[in-house]
Amino acid sequence: MEPLAEDATRSWTEPGIYDVAPGVYRIPLPLPNDGLRAVNVYAITDGTELVMIDSGWALDEARDLLQAALKGIGAELGDISQFLVTHVHRDHYTQAVALRREFGNRVALGELERTSLELTMDTNRGPATTQLDLLTQSGAEPLLVELRNFFAGEQPETSVWELPDEWLTPGRRTVLGSRALDIVHTPGHTAGHVVFDDGAAGLMFTGDHVLPRITPSIGFQPGATELPLRDFLDSLRLVRGMPDRRMLPAHGLVSPSVHARIDELLAHHEDRLERSARALSEGASTAYEAASKLTWTRHQRKLAEMDPFNQMLAVTETKAHLDLLAYQGKLKMSEVDGVRHYAAA
Ligand SMILES: [Zn+2]
Repeated sequence: MEPLAEDATRSWTEPGIYDVAPGVYRIPLPLPNDGLRAVNVYAITDGTELVMIDSGWALDEARDLLQAALKGIGAELGDISQFLVTHVHRDHYTQAVALRREFGNRVALGELERTSLELTMDTNRGPATTQLDLLTQSGAEPLLVELRNFFAGEQPETSVWELPDEWLTPGRRTVLGSRALDIVHTPGHTAGHVVFDDGAAGLMFTGDHVLPRITPSIGFQPGATELPLRDFLDSLRLVRGMPDRRMLPAHGLVSPSVHARIDELLAHHEDRLERSARALSEGASTAYEAASKLTWTRHQRKLAEMDPFNQMLAVTETKAHLDLLAYQGKLKMSEVDGVRHYAAA
């Protein structure tokens, strides 16, 4: 595969290797039947050494595509000295673990992902245990019944999960001898998410923290946090306070401004906070009832029109909004038999 210029007229998921900046290449890799369709990994090279930002989902097809893409810049999988991974989600982390077994590449992940990773590696936990607990608090009994069927028979895939070689801490790090990346902790999407800021090149590898077109899910991880939306909004404001950069996201095309997208995401959540509060004045009391009154995705879907997995994301996201409003004193919250009820303050 010869490197191609990044090109907005082409679908961002189209396999290939895209030249996005001197020594920086975007490589979209496939996901199995996933709504996101693909995940970008980025190769950074000085012609001698090769470092990857994120790794893809451990799949034979993704491995073959990564191999073919690297060939376009005269490199092989074994040349990758390290994977710097933005967060613990399977589509970013697991291929690094699989390739490490073969080639011994080093793998680094944000230190605050440790709790979630260790829970994921625990074979005694059922799938999505934490999310199911959040749904109980959300009063989502009908959805819980559907989800238990949805997850029934799903074996925990522990074989693709191992600890990294290194836990990343915030601060500056030199890669490839000359390139400095600032590691910035951006909790919200997951508790230990990090972005990598390359100030000299004017680039930011934003992982799933800032994505074009879609809004990242909030707090979808085994290690529950109390106020994931507060964390996410704080992390957006933190990055908004840094110099603006070209955005190199984990899903979607490279685009000119991280700040421009953050402004849209902040406005989106302002709007969702308002709508979530309004759902209560229309008779909703729990996060599940509020989610049922809201519409979802850019197609304005009803909650019940989505599959159980996406309903789960929608309800826990609504819960995150209501919990933040309660924390800010804008709503009253009370818990009855493990279910949270919200009302105007
Ligand atoms: Zn993610």
